[in-house]
Amino acid sequence: MRRGWRRPAAQTGPSVVIIGGGFAGLSALNALASARVAVTLVDRNVYSTFQPLLYQVATAGLTSADVAYPLWSVTRKTGARFHKGELTKVDAGQQKVRLNDGTELGYDYLILATGVSANFFGIPGADKHSMSMYTRRDAVAVRERLLDELEQRSWGTSSADLNITIAGGGATGVELAGTLAELRNIALPAAFPAIDPSSMHVTLIERAPDLLAAFRPHQREYARQQLLKRGVDVRLNSTIKEVTTDSVSLADGTSVPTVASVRESAVTLTSP
Ligand SMILES: Cc1cc2nc3c(=O)[nH]c(=O)nc-3n(C[C@H](O)[C@H](O)[C@H](O)COP(=O)(O)OP(=O)(O)OC[C@H]3O[C@@H](n4cnc5c(N)ncnc54)[C@H](O)[C@@H]3O)c2cc1C
Repeated sequence: MRRGWRRPAAQTGPSVVIIGGGFAGLSALNALASARVAVTLVDRNVYSTFQPLLYQVATAGLTSADVAYPLWSVTRKTGARFHKGELTKVDAGQQKVRLNDGTELGYDYLILATGVSANFFGIPGADKHSMSMYTRRDAVAVRERLLDELEQRSWGTSSADLNITIAGGGATGVELAGTLAELRNIALPAAFPAIDPSSMHVTLIERAPDLLAAFRPHQREYARQQLLKRGVDVRLNSTIKEVTTDSVSLADGTSVPTVASVRESAVTLTSP
């Protein structure tokens, strides 16, 4: 038997439908691997996304394939079935779900693990003028926009400074700000020698008095110092009031011109 290969269990017993092949859905799938149940995993994509590395995709350090793995290979190992489709309706009375391709799947037990979506906290303009970074497609869109902005400056079709604003000093915001600053400091001179690195600005905006609220105080301060060292403009105690096509307005009356603003789950790319 191949290493890591589990003999598929017989598809007998009560039927379990899991909607969503993210961390939660796959965890449920593994937990049920040895149970006498017939499991069907449904996801709108044929792959599962490793979200913690999306910031690397967004900054061109990894390809999108590096953060995705096929769901059928996971279900094959656990003896479950995989069905690609998007959930459109749950009929709890009839104990069945409907997918966007018209398929109906009956179930004895239903596990909904569809994750969450980007939260713009009701900030005017945020949903319109920012790009989410929650899915693999989002990260690719951010990367393409960034590279496009750099290309334009490299060929002289734009001479505007490249202002990138990241909203949210959680783990993703900190990682993204640091990586963008490194991209500017290290990769830019090599890949785009025509662009003056000092014309690219990375700003990180956080409403709280510290970055990385979940971490210990000395770790929060260490992260801030590391970002400052890399030339990130870290703004604490700053609340975003509005996002427009060319700036991020703060509650204190100031604003940050921006080409790209990023939050844990949202990236804004606008031109000054
Ligand atoms: C940029 C980023 C970085 C992160 N970094 C970290 C980190 O470093 N460490 C950490 O612990 N956590 C991190 N997280 C959080 C972590 O990734 C999430 O908590 C986790 O992915 C949530 O798992 P989930 O299964 O609930 O949802 P998801 O992983 O979002 O999975 C939901 C799945 O459901 C599918 N789906 C959604 N709607 C439907 C539908 N209608 N029909 C069919 N399928 C559907 C989606 O395609 C997806 O595959 C990060 C999150 C983000 C966005």
